Amino acid sequence: MAIIPDTKDWTWVLRRPCPDCGFDTSAFPREQVAPMILANAAAWRDVLTGQPGVSVRPAPDRWSPLEYGCHVRDVLRLYDFRLQLMLAEDDPLFPNWDQDETAVAERYGEQDPLVVADELSSAARPISDRFAAVAGDQWQRTGARSDGACFTVETFARYLIHYPIHHFYDVTGATGRTL
Ligand SMILES: [Zn+2]
Repeated sequence: MAIIPDTKDWTWVLRRPCPDCGFDTSAFPREQVAPMILANAAAWRDVLTGQPGVSVRPAPDRWSPLEYGCHVRDVLRLYDFRLQLMLAEDDPLFPNWDQDETAVAERYGEQDPLVVADELSSAARPISDRFAAVAGDQWQRTGARSDGACFTVETFARYLIHYPIHHFYDVTGATGRTL
């Protein structure tokens, strides 16, 4: 069985705690998003470098820790690009991104976990720095996804940080509160 494409709209995580990973984006201080990105990236490094069988899928239709690590790395890169757009342009429309197509095209399951660990750390730093530098009215700058979902920099920050925390839960069972 192949991976079933994820077409769910995850913007509900801005309105209520996630029933899976337990993370409550609305209660999380926006100023903590930047340091949390780095703390989470460090935790991913431990996952990607510390386990044998990191490339093994727990079930045929579930990504391996390696595949999730690749996904988190690419989300961090993509969201840093989108954040730059929001800060530089007025209400930009983000170019579309198909995460499941990317996973297949980039052969996530065949990548080197040690390289992915380095790349994930490298991807975390610039977006963390960029969020750390957001100030004042910049939190209210806007942008929109191609499916019509609208964000401010603040909701975008909250939405983004749920991704790596949720996927860390997917591979370790650890919740956002215990990261
Ligand atoms: Zn979650």
